[in-house]
Amino acid sequence: MYNFVPKGCEALKEIFPKIIGNEELCARLARSLLAENPDLPHAYIIEGAYGTGKRTLAVELAKALVCENRTNTDAPALPCNSCRNCRNISRGACPDVIEIGTDGKASVGVDAIRELRRDVHIYPNDLERKIYIINDAHTMTVQAQNALLLTLEEPPAYAFILLLCENSALMLETIKSRAPIIRMKPLSPEDTERAMLLSDPSLETKKRTDPALFDDVIMSADGSAGLAIDLLSGKEAAKIAEARRASEKFCILAANAAKKAELLIHVTEVCTSTRETAKDQLESFALAVRDLALLKRDGDTALRFFSDREKATHLSDSFSLRKLLLISDALLEAISALERNSNTRLTLISMLSKF
Ligand SMILES: [Zn+2]
Repeated sequence: MYNFVPKGCEALKEIFPKIIGNEELCARLARSLLAENPDLPHAYIIEGAYGTGKRTLAVELAKALVCENRTNTDAPALPCNSCRNCRNISRGACPDVIEIGTDGKASVGVDAIRELRRDVHIYPNDLERKIYIINDAHTMTVQAQNALLLTLEEPPAYAFILLLCENSALMLETIKSRAPIIRMKPLSPEDTERAMLLSDPSLETKKRTDPALFDDVIMSADGSAGLAIDLLSGKEAAKIAEARRASEKFCILAANAAKKAELLIHVTEVCTSTRETAKDQLESFALAVRDLALLKRDGDTALRFFSDREKATHLSDSFSLRKLLLISDALLEAISALERNSNTRLTLISMLSKF
């Protein structure tokens, strides 16, 4: 959500009310959209990790572009979400907003793009624009990307193409030169929670029933509301909660030199089922230790592991910065040793001997 004063208008307009975070990006798009003739390019690549709101932005952008109240300075928001065009797009009932995806396959193939190329020359049914949303565009085969290039080079004036991708490095340079990249930033934990509740209000009940698990999942999702929702709905949630408790206990024991034996028992207990589990658990330890080290340097730093800042600060105070860095190095070394298929137990013992 972003408040914006349109040109020639004193009133504040709420911009992209359904987009959480990414304020600068929304303001930039708003400036282009609120111009008399929107001066947006014909295509954008929307890049961001899984679950960071790429598709939501694409749909909101489509609505804003054709919103009947776009230039109405009295309308309180853009998109207004109440005009016919906005409502039809929200319901997925607009024939001129067309979504393409992998269709259950591993990639977006050349056939889907050929169909787009044919369809793009048919004048829109209902709107002044025809908007294509290509989901998982990073999976497009080279052949598909080359086929799309022809459309991107000379699109009909009414066409607007949004390529949603997790990694623009997988897109051909020729595509990138014709479609500017919009990068979605990971959300803060607070914004992740807001985005989750906005997308599924029934999660409020889950939050009330088990607030600690809710926090665990948000912190583990690392800025992706979509991933947090997935994690909360699957069996992963309990595993994550367990791994996080184990990491907290790791920090508490590591802070106390007298608990060395207990630390060894704890680490071998939680890390020895498979090499993969051990690696995941060490990564979780490393994330917790990273938070504690950052807190030593800057009290305002954004935390990625601890949701309770006070508790984390208290824990951080029981370490010296030198010790935290030593632990962090030992953990990272052990993770890369496990990646090289070293013996898990020996790796753990050698790791613990370093701090
Ligand atoms: Zn509207």
